[in-house]
Amino acid sequence: MNIDAHAHITGPVEYYNYFRSLSSGSGALPRPTAPDISDERIEESLVPHIAEVSEVGTDLQIVSPRPWAVPTGDRRENVVLRITQGVNDMIARCVKLHPERFVGTCAIPQAAGQPISFCIEELERCVLELGMVGLKINPDPGEGSLETPHMGDEYWYPLYEKMVELDVPALVHGGPFRFSREPELGYFVEEEAVAAWALIRSPQVFRDFPDLKIIIGHGGGYIPYQAGRGRAFRMNSQQREPEANWESFDESMRRLYYDTVLYDGEAMELLIRVVGVDRCIFGTDKPANGSVKDPVTGRALNDTKQYIDRIDWLTDEDRHAIFEGNARRIYTRMQVPAA
Ligand SMILES: [Zn+2]
Repeated sequence: MNIDAHAHITGPVEYYNYFRSLSSGSGALPRPTAPDISDERIEESLVPHIAEVSEVGTDLQIVSPRPWAVPTGDRRENVVLRITQGVNDMIARCVKLHPERFVGTCAIPQAAGQPISFCIEELERCVLELGMVGLKINPDPGEGSLETPHMGDEYWYPLYEKMVELDVPALVHGGPFRFSREPELGYFVEEEAVAAWALIRSPQVFRDFPDLKIIIGHGGGYIPYQAGRGRAFRMNSQQREPEANWESFDESMRRLYYDTVLYDGEAMELLIRVVGVDRCIFGTDKPANGSVKDPVTGRALNDTKQYIDRIDWLTDEDRHAIFEGNARRIYTRMQVPAA
């Protein structure tokens, strides 16, 4: 069975028109009401998605909202909350229509400058009431502002505590952005790498939360490629403060998980070799930007299975772990029978 742990559902455009009207309104305007969207309309929006995913042999997707769906940079936390609830409800409806195809994870109502504890209630609602199995964390909710500390900071601890209590993993994934000097092309992977460096700059977060489960999106950003630099920093800090740095950089790096959203065979091989088979979770980010077809091979770039299939040193056991076993091991709330 192939379980794709990195995918987003868009849903009908009417939802986004409503969300836009919520974020563009002011106190003087009447409150927009939520649109009445039928199951048929949702189904219609899922047809091309399911067709594309079926084509590459994926059986099940662990889906989250689109990265841009929640306007985290908006300072009005109640607006952010209402949009997040609407987006999560939409994901839950999609999953209900196709429980054999989708498992849901939620967005949390992160707003720039707000304590992270603001997100807890919605996370609990999604997991305990809507049956979601995990969440997506935007590591840069301020969209380039400096109000939100890095993910190794205690600012995030109330969320980590709740994640451990509910036993839900989080996918770290970039969101909306307003940088003028950083194109979308690089923003996600760069912010995800910033988040990963913050978490593994010292082993402290994992001493405080040994059971925390975090997946770094898009193959871990540039972490695997720069692991040698991480080792150098850790060795130096071990000499200065051996107590606080009791484990090697590689041990800290291997406390995180990494999805396989890489559109290049050599990059895929590097990721799996550096972080290890047991830390890799199959992901495609399909359908999205990478769905474009390579004119030479005729295959979509985000058909990431092809790159893993070509790695000749992986055993059958390794492949099973990457495509299915690791996802089942960490998404413990996922109740999907084996194929
Ligand atoms: Zn994505």
